[in-house]
Amino acid sequence: MKIIIIGAGVSGLTTAINSKTNLNEVLVLEKNSIPGKKILVTGNGRCNFLNDDFSKEHFHSIKENNIESLINNDNKERVLNFIKSLGVEIKIKNGYYYPFTNKSSTIRDALYEEALNKGVEFKFDYRVNDIKKENDKFIINNELSCDALVVSSGSKSYKVTGTEGDSYSLLSKLGLSVTELYPSLVQVLTEGKFLKELDGVRTDAVVSILDDNKLIKEESGELQLTDYGVSGICVFNLSRYVHILNKPIIRINFMPYTDNSVDYFNNLVDEKIYDVLKRIINEKIASVILKLSNINRDKLKSNLSKEEVNNILDLLTNFRLNVTGTKSFDNSQVTMGGIDANEIDINTFETKKINNLFLTGELLDVDGDCGGYNISFAILSGLIVSDRIKELC
Ligand SMILES: Cc1cc2nc3c(=O)[nH]c(=O)nc-3n(C[C@H](O)[C@H](O)[C@H](O)COP(=O)(O)OP(=O)(O)OC[C@H]3O[C@@H](n4cnc5c(N)ncnc54)[C@H](O)[C@@H]3O)c2cc1C
Repeated sequence: MKIIIIGAGVSGLTTAINSKTNLNEVLVLEKNSIPGKKILVTGNGRCNFLNDDFSKEHFHSIKENNIESLINNDNKERVLNFIKSLGVEIKIKNGYYYPFTNKSSTIRDALYEEALNKGVEFKFDYRVNDIKKENDKFIINNELSCDALVVSSGSKSYKVTGTEGDSYSLLSKLGLSVTELYPSLVQVLTEGKFLKELDGVRTDAVVSILDDNKLIKEESGELQLTDYGVSGICVFNLSRYVHILNKPIIRINFMPYTDNSVDYFNNLVDEKIYDVLKRIINEKIASVILKLSNINRDKLKSNLSKEEVNNILDLLTNFRLNVTGTKSFDNSQVTMGGIDANEIDINTFETKKINNLFLTGELLDVDGDCGGYNISFAILSGLIVSDRIKELC
């Protein structure tokens, strides 16, 4: 039996390694000249491949499906054992799993070397432009054929790594449905009077996304303020909601360290209000808050009116920015949406419409939060597909 896998990313390499037996031939087609180009840029070059908290709330889809039934501890262990089986030493920091070397290349090299050791063949600089099914065979670019085809070609995010989204149209020509597609885990664009002044500020905050006044999701962590809006992991995890809310608003609490901002503020020493604020927040934020509330920075704290204090506290804990969109696919870590996961059998990841056609990883309508969820899902899908392929051989 001959198997072709399109894409030498994390899910394609996992599938290749686990599918290869003495009874089959496995060929991976990759448009780049190297394998796993995207793996190299993950986790700031460290590849966060899994998370201790492997729970359903970290996985999302545009169309409701039953992928979430795969999110359980057994499958988390499967992913971990697979990475360990490659000889990769693991480091866990705050529940986030990395290779001990802190280098993504450790994971990429381990996957590629294992595939070569198993006898998987690779064709690099090979872009798939056409897929046909004729009788029981898949025909690729009118020149290669196989009995089972695995499409592991990723999404349309971060196209410098080879993921330009070309497979969506190839698969829709074969009759599969593609949902809407949006950039996710990406910077959020906002309106905001003094954004230029805040450009470059990094601060710990609780950041929420609201739909008008309704709280949708809250995250905490390091927030980055920029001249176009907001960034940082906490913002990335909120970015998918920008595309589905009517009136998305980012709300920032600059005082995450206290539950009682009123008492905290009242207990601060009495001096010029700008100097007071500089003690508890970044000075650029202090300056903007005073401008927005029309308060002279030299006014003594004790001379502020009740209304002025309320204004300051409101801006400190309930700072609102109207959202205008997100940065593009080129900046996004993942794509929200993809091939409708209802069109695959989740026990095998085989498409229900076309026998022996399998899909893996980010190509599907599944997007995870920051924290190793996307790579772990890509690996899990590759492991499930290869179980089925071994049965077929
Ligand atoms: C900057 C950045 C940081 C990230 N950090 C993390 C992280 O720390 N943890 C985490 O879990 N996730 C992270 N992700 C997301 C994660 O990298 C992806 O979700 C994951 O790599 C998807 O794996 P995949 O196998 O589905 O596709 P990919 O790894 O994207 O592989 C797809 C491959 O298919 C090839 N291909 C595409 N079309 C064709 C074609 N027509 N012909 C031939 N080859 C083709 C591509 O060149 C590519 O090599 C990050 C993403 C980015 C961009």
